[in-house]
Parts: sequence; structure tokens; C-alpha cells
Amino acid sequence: MARVYNFSAGPSILPESVLNKAAEEMLDYEGSGQSVMEMSHRSKTYDKIIKDAEALLREIMGIPSNYKVLFLQGGASTQFSAIPLNFMNGSGKADYVITGQWAKKAAKEAQKYGDVKIIASSEDKTFSYIPKLDKSTFRPDADYFYICMNNTIYGTVYKELPDTGDVPLIADISSCVLSEPLDVSKFGMLYFGAQKNVAPAGLTVCIIREDLLGKARDITPTMLDYKIHADAESLYNTPPCYTIYICKLVLEWIKSIGGIDAIAERNRNKAKILYDFLDSSKMFKGTVVAEDRSLMNVPFVTGNDELDAKFVKAATEAGFVNLKGHRSVGGMRASIYNAMPTEGVVALVDFMKKFEEENS
Ligand SMILES: *Cc1c(COP(=O)(O)O)cnc(C)c1O
Repeated sequence: MARVYNFSAGPSILPESVLNKAAEEMLDYEGSGQSVMEMSHRSKTYDKIIKDAEALLREIMGIPSNYKVLFLQGGASTQFSAIPLNFMNGSGKADYVITGQWAKKAAKEAQKYGDVKIIASSEDKTFSYIPKLDKSTFRPDADYFYICMNNTIYGTVYKELPDTGDVPLIADISSCVLSEPLDVSKFGMLYFGAQKNVAPAGLTVCIIREDLLGKARDITPTMLDYKIHADAESLYNTPPCYTIYICKLVLEWIKSIGGIDAIAERNRNKAKILYDFLDSSKMFKGTVVAEDRSLMNVPFVTGNDELDAKFVKAATEAGFVNLKGHRSVGGMRASIYNAMPTEGVVALVDFMKKFEEENS
């Protein structure tokens, strides 16, 4: 069996040991005589899976007890509407920072429901940096303040959080969740689509401070009302059962290799190998300002579209797949999520060095 090095931005690489475990348990989960796919979500066996997944996530992320953890469907994109519907119900105002396509879409959706202020944007330079924020422009009466923490397409990440005072900070952490320690208590809500760093597609996890729940607008569809899901412990309707099970296996894997500090150390080391090469290369260069570089998504270009295409083709043939950049940036993007082993990045850099020698 030949496995490739998969640099996809999402759905993306999963730890091989997790896939093996899922394969082993496929037909008979822990003596139940059933696959997890076939089980009732109200069964005792499944109840343990979802409870264990939540407990592991709480432990690894250090989620305080006054936060609810919800396992939902609909993708991160559904939260773009659920967030204003649930929280934009005081002054009807919300502040957004635009650092890429996902933040932009979130702000656009919120505009349907209330008064959105764009505090800053980095669109002027193709979102290649995180804008410096001036606190005096934040609205103290906003219902919340919204950021997209790691910008999957553009490869930027916030290294410092905006100080929003008493205004709840909400962050989309779809592509950086579990990559580094994060102080959950600084946020009113965190959420992520699981298909970037945690599981296959189909699961969205929302982590919400309890006091923010129960204020949804009357028109909020039941399925978008976070309080409904919180009260039902994510079993209001059928949750994405199998994806939650894989999420549990991934969390067990993170714990087995030493938890969040160990994974962060690995990620920093991995990213450094690639960025150091990009900084030394005459052919390839990173597209993001050095201080805002993401640990997870690394866009780079040669500056020549034909050469970029030649590189992507050669890399694919050599077993380094999904390196084509997003159409809005062009060039290449290597997503090096938790499950990408260090040797995958080392092998990619070796391949890039060889390509550079042969093509310059
Ligand atoms: C992928 C991604 C999304 C969109 O996720 P869906 O689950 O496809 O809706 C939103 N935000 C970020 C940061 C992402 O990386």
C-alpha cells in the first residue's frame, strides 16, 4: 500500500494509527457486534463515545467548566448565521476583523441580522498579514467581537488576541484548533469545522460560555439555537456519530503523544523546517509577512505561474499531493496539520531543493 504525503487544506490528513484503529473496529466495535456507523445514537455504547470525546476535548484544550461543548453539523459556514442569530440580540451590533475569505463571509452573513462594523481588513494586500488593531475603534456596546484566528487560505494567524474588554470575543479556529495551547477563558465562543485538524468532514464543534446562551432571537431556527443543543447535550437530533467517533480517536492520539504542548512543539519544529527553507530559497518564497505566519497553512510561490504549475505536477508525481494554492493566492500551499509527520515536511523540503537545482 502506497500512502502519499497529503498537504490538503481540508478535508485533510488523519493520523495513520487512527485510520488503522477505525479499520480494526469497523465491523465490531468493542464487542458490540456492530460498526459505530450502524449504532443508535441513543445507545449506551454510543453515549460513552460522545461523552469520552467531550471529556478528552475538555482535558486537552483545558476548557473551563462554565463552557458548553456542542457537537453539531452544518459546517463552520452554518455558524456564520447561527452566531448573529444567537448573540446579536442586545445592541444588535457586532465588530468584525476581516483577515480572509472566511471572516468576510461571516461578516456578510451577520450583516443580514444587524449592525456590523468592520474594524480592520487586510484585503488591500491579499490578506497576507494580520492588521494591527486600534482598541479605540472597538465598540464597547457591541454584542460580540469576531475574528478568524487562523486563515486557512492565506496562511496567517493571530499571535496576540484583541483586547475586547467585556465584549465577548468569538473566534473561528477551524484550521488551528489543537495545534497550540489556547486560553479558552479569553473567549465567549470558539468553534471549528472538524475536517481540518480533527476528523473527517461533517462535524462542527462549538465551545460556548454558558452565560451567553439563551438569548437567541425568536426567529432563530431551532436547529441553529445553541441553547437547544446545549440542553440536549448534542443529542437534540442525530449527531454526526461516526465523525465524532473519529474525533475521539484523534483526541486519544494527541493525548498518547503527550498532549497539546507536545503537539505544539512538533508543529513549531515542522513549520520552521519549511519556513527556513523558504527564507533561504532563491526560487520559492512565502507569501505572508514573517510575524503573522501560520503553523498550519504555508502558502508559497515561485513568482512564475508556469513554474508553479510545473512544480505542482512534479510534486504530485513524486507523492506530495494537494499542494496547489487557493485560486485567490495562486502558487502553492502546504497545509501541515497535526497529523502531518515531520518526515513529510523534511521530504517535501528535500524535493523542493532538488526541483530548485534542476530548474534554475
Ligand atoms: C474550511 C474553513 C471554513 C469553512 O468550513 P465548512 O465546514 O466548509 O463550512 C470556515 N472557516 C475556516 C477558518 C476554514 O478553514
